[in-house]
Amino acid sequence: MSNGPYGQLACRCGAVSLLVCGAPLGVGRDATDAPVTFWPLAAIQLGQGGDELELLPDERGGEAWHCRRCDERLLHGDDEADVAVLAGLPEDTDGTGVALTTSRQRRLEALGYRVAAKT
Ligand SMILES: [Zn+2]
Repeated sequence: MSNGPYGQLACRCGAVSLLVCGAPLGVGRDATDAPVTFWPLAAIQLGQGGDELELLPDERGGEAWHCRRCDERLLHGDDEADVAVLAGLPEDTDGTGVALTTSRQRRLEALGYRVAAKT
């Protein structure tokens, strides 16, 4: 295991990039049944484009992080759950246990996400 960046997220136009570090908290599905990965907010670091990154309040709660220039949404952040929701699944899901507390899971479910149960 390494503490280096897990990966990088960039918007379509390339103005904003975010570094994702550490390990995901779990995986699930969003309201449209698309796969998502839950990360601690602290795992997300700004790579570049701080001036172009805008946090917009989401109607369901939390904030959409998006690029002012191309309007692409990079992730959904929720302060209450302290979770960042990224589209897609981690490349290696084998080691991904669900590390979400029950209250975090409830909060995410209230936002319309379904947390995948690890069986
Ligand atoms: Zn952009």
